[in-house]
Amino acid sequence: MAHLAHDPDARPDGRSANDLKAVMPLTAELRDGELYVGGVSTVELAREFGTALYVYDEEHIRERLATWLRELRAVLPQADVAYAGKAFTCKAMVRLLAEAGAHLDVSSGGELAIALAAGFPAERVVVHGNNKSERELTEAIEAGAGLIVVDCFEELERVNRLAGGRGVVQPILLRIKPGVVADTHEYIRTGAEDSKFGFGLSDGAALQAVEQALALPHCDLRGLHAHIGSQIYALESFAETLRVLAAFLAELRASTGFVARDLNLGGGVGIAYLADDEPPQIAQFAAIVAETLKAACREHDLPLPRLLVEPGRSIVAGAGLTLYTVGSIKKLLDLRTYVAVDGGMTDNIRVALYGARYESVIASRADAPRDALVTLAGKHCESGDVVAIDASLQSPRVGDVICMFATGAYGHSMASNYNRQVRPGVVFVRDGRAREVLRRETYADLLNCETD
Ligand SMILES: *Cc1c(COP(=O)(O)O)cnc(C)c1O
Repeated sequence: MAHLAHDPDARPDGRSANDLKAVMPLTAELRDGELYVGGVSTVELAREFGTALYVYDEEHIRERLATWLRELRAVLPQADVAYAGKAFTCKAMVRLLAEAGAHLDVSSGGELAIALAAGFPAERVVVHGNNKSERELTEAIEAGAGLIVVDCFEELERVNRLAGGRGVVQPILLRIKPGVVADTHEYIRTGAEDSKFGFGLSDGAALQAVEQALALPHCDLRGLHAHIGSQIYALESFAETLRVLAAFLAELRASTGFVARDLNLGGGVGIAYLADDEPPQIAQFAAIVAETLKAACREHDLPLPRLLVEPGRSIVAGAGLTLYTVGSIKKLLDLRTYVAVDGGMTDNIRVALYGARYESVIASRADAPRDALVTLAGKHCESGDVVAIDASLQSPRVGDVICMFATGAYGHSMASNYNRQVRPGVVFVRDGRAREVLRRETYADLLNCETD
């Protein structure tokens, strides 16, 4: 686990929250040195709801959704934004999507159930997964899901049979592996030829899938989908994917006569986790994607399809933060200082999984320079259970509330009950008010599935 190694030469950066705007939620502000979000004190939130706690700036989510829709439709008026629910889902989040006019990607039957329970319109749901069960497919078809993104030959047959059994025709896309290797962590790269997701282009599987889909009476092939990975900064990777897909569409029209109505470019636009990160702007993404798509369609003389994009992280990561309380401090002479918090790998697995890094402050003195260098350790029974290695922080004391920024994506949604830890609650803040949208789990929740 080389990424957990401590750098003996690392020094605290001396920055305060005033220098961390790039990773803080939109409404974050300091009042007497204390960090407020959505007009609510984070210290108060910790006191009222306990820690560990996920906090979301509702305004930030609304603003990101609106920006995605506005920027994309400014250049491609028919475009749709399908938020990737796997980044973070709950009914309150789904309602924000419904209000904004966004679509929703679900990656499991459970996510679909939450969407439907929140009253989300099924025709705006896009169903994903590389091994959807019969039950999940049945639920999606019966609900009237707008699109099922078919990942394999077995699934084509299943969708056709299940839709046929209900006397309906199911709109589908086919997931294609464009052979584009995104410049990101290996675990979150999905577009290469050697990937478990989708149909390959070079081996002819994609062409064969299109031919089969066109012959199935209960599948309505609307177009193609590709998702090349996550936390991508290089916009050229998206442009390259579009060029590959458009060339394939031209080939398809020549060989089968098929003309796509939809083209789904997936998600993966990166965000800032560290203060100096410079992620692409949504407007830049929209401009490059629109320009490339229009040029490719012109080149191949294809009608412009409706473009769908599926941002997850880009919408919620920066909106969320995690509050922890410091429980113990161990200064290991000439080694490092471990500051243990009341959470860790069960509420944020990304550090252990990908070596992810974050910025943190002490909530009550966020305006002070970060003059200490510490390793924030979790409370779980694994040495790899850390939340930040070599983190600059205002010298922590036992009882301090630590605020870790940009944890809104793949934090709560990847949370586990390891060590029989209860999952933290989720609080939305806005206009000086906090509402708990998911309560903290209790031991009763842990015992709920016991049958004996
Ligand atoms: C994970 C995923 C997304 C979202 O990725 P982000 O990096 O969160 O934007 C979109 N589409 C598909 C198919 C995915 O698997």
